[in-house]
Amino acid sequence: MGLGGLLRWLVIGVVVWLLYRMVKRLIVGLNGPQARSNLRPRGGEEVLDVMVQDPQCGTYLPQHEALRAKVEGREVFFCSEACRDAYLRGDKAPQS
Ligand SMILES: [Zn+2]
Repeated sequence: MGLGGLLRWLVIGVVVWLLYRMVKRLIVGLNGPQARSNLRPRGGEEVLDVMVQDPQCGTYLPQHEALRAKVEGREVFFCSEACRDAYLRGDKAPQS
């Protein structure tokens, strides 16, 4: 009875360990690549989570929520069209 009981506990232990590994792999398989593919843009240029600053009002916001504009060759990000228009007006007015 002593040896049989020990073997049974050993088998139960191995089964539990295998189940644990299976569940762990399932969780990683379901969440890992999915979460990562959500972060990456389809174009693959930049990571979406980058924080950018609106130069007009100073607000920080995620790049994928920001309005993108090209000002003198470089990219600038704004929180709203109002900020973008104001910045573009303010930046280019002195020239003309
Ligand atoms: Zn703004």
